[in-house]
Amino acid sequence: MELVKCKNCGRFFRPISRASNFCDRPLEDGSGRTCKSISSQWYVDQRKGENPAYDEYVLYRKRYRSRITRNSTKNPYSRYDDWNIRAHTLLDSYNRGEITLESFSKTLKEMDEDMKPLDKM
Ligand SMILES: [Zn+2]
Repeated sequence: MELVKCKNCGRFFRPISRASNFCDRPLEDGSGRTCKSISSQWYVDQRKGENPAYDEYVLYRKRYRSRITRNSTKNPYSRYDDWNIRAHTLLDSYNRGEITLESFSKTLKEMDEDMKPLDKM
């Protein structure tokens, strides 16, 4: 079997079957997950136009990123990083059908409270 490029991390690996597109390496985020374990998420991401939860996530992400660009003292990047991890966990739950779109939106909105510029808190 020849080497295949992992569609998540881009490194080459030797697949067990011809259908494998993802390697078994652990992710660098320290979550203990591997490229293979997030592969379903990856496929969902490829269809973002069809995933309302993902679209919503992208809207918030754009908002926070532009705030950081404008003023990273009032909008620290570390806080955005934390948010991003939490939002991704939430998105994972939605994609696995564990939470509804409604509760996904509600939680993102609640998390938005923590993302206000620091001088407004
Ligand atoms: Zn990989």
